[in-house]
Amino acid sequence: MTSLAVTRERRPGETRVALTPDAVKKLVAQGCQVVVESGAGASALAPDADYAGAGAQIAADLAHALKDADILLTVNAPPAEAIAALKAGAIVVGLLDPHRQKAAVAQMAEQGLTAFAMELVPRISRAQAMDALSSQANLAGYRAVIEAAQAYGRAMPMMMTAAGAIAPAKVFVMGAGVAGLQAIATARRLGAVVTATDVRPAVKEQVESLGAKFVAVEDEEFRAAETAEGYARPMSEEYQVKQAALVGEHIKKQDIVVTTALIPGRPAPRLVSAEQVASMKDGSVIVDLAVDYGGNVEGSAADETVVAQGVKIIGIVNMAGRIAADASALYARNLMAFVALLIDKQGALAPDMDDEILKEALVTQGGRVTHPSLQGG
Ligand code: NAD
Repeated sequence: MTSLAVTRERRPGETRVALTPDAVKKLVAQGCQVVVESGAGASALAPDADYAGAGAQIAADLAHALKDADILLTVNAPPAEAIAALKAGAIVVGLLDPHRQKAAVAQMAEQGLTAFAMELVPRISRAQAMDALSSQANLAGYRAVIEAAQAYGRAMPMMMTAAGAIAPAKVFVMGAGVAGLQAIATARRLGAVVTATDVRPAVKEQVESLGAKFVAVEDEEFRAAETAEGYARPMSEEYQVKQAALVGEHIKKQDIVVTTALIPGRPAPRLVSAEQVASMKDGSVIVDLAVDYGGNVEGSAADETVVAQGVKIIGIVNMAGRIAADASALYARNLMAFVALLIDKQGALAPDMDDEILKEALVTQGGRVTHPSLQGG
């Protein structure tokens, strides 16, 4: 019987938990044993009693939770004390952020752990249920608009009242991937007039189907801006100048801007300059969802709301964590789909290390850092 452990997340500000009681119940039914550290779900609306009711054993502390664990399921890379408490050969699965959490990766390798990073799961159709980047980005996009609406001192929808009319808010979404499309949908549901931009041409139709207007420099480079994997390429300086001019004209008429633009493996592209921020009306709000990767907006700061010339720039790093119960529920389902590749029908540990998904997500094994993108530095 495979023993799964879930611990309380120790990263400051983390509110999510790797498994919800509902997920525990399903894993127990599949023949697994689940040990949950006391308090692990406290900030995600999942008290110990619910885990116990779902069939989990509650461990009083980290050491007890990890003592017999075959697999540690985690949201973030585990802290040093957790890695040290695991037996050699144990498996760790989580959003390990391996390119930045180098010390944790090195320690997991040294300890002989087999670590899988959920962000490295390939985006193939068989792995869709495991796509934690999408599940979390989707909720982050929703929540970014809710945060913006909360910080905005006016209404989002148009309102006709006996005392007169209120104009709808103008929302501009920059970067229309998973998070951006959900931000567009949410802003539309709240009644805003929405525009959006992206450098990938495939996005135009998706934006329009959500009832938003697409705004972009649609030149030759734009038509070739998508990689075979469906991600954005870094754009030329010439394109960026044209993009900045277009955005500059547009942005000063907007009330709310939500930026979500990322390029895999690189710092986030700078899309909004301090000058453009200053061109917006007093009371406007910007939410920079890329703040943890260097930010799309000049002047945004991690976990701060910076007020620049009357414009609020919100930089929440863990946006999905603001909606912890749902973020945890979706993430737990991503993990359950991944765990299904590690156990057999009786619940015994039986990972097929030749599986393409496991191979691509593998970060450390047998005392080594195995992922090619992490070697040599
Ligand atoms: P992401 O988080 O890497 O980037 C967010 C968005 O920013 C992207 O749409 C990107 O084009 C955009 N962007 C980058 N540079 C920009 C710039 N200079 N100006 C404006 N926008 C810029 O992307 P993501 O949300 O993870 O999704 C990327 C693609 O992958 C999408 O097409 C998505 O639908 C697709 N996807 C596929 C699967 C699957 O097949 N299983 C799963 C999830 C996502």
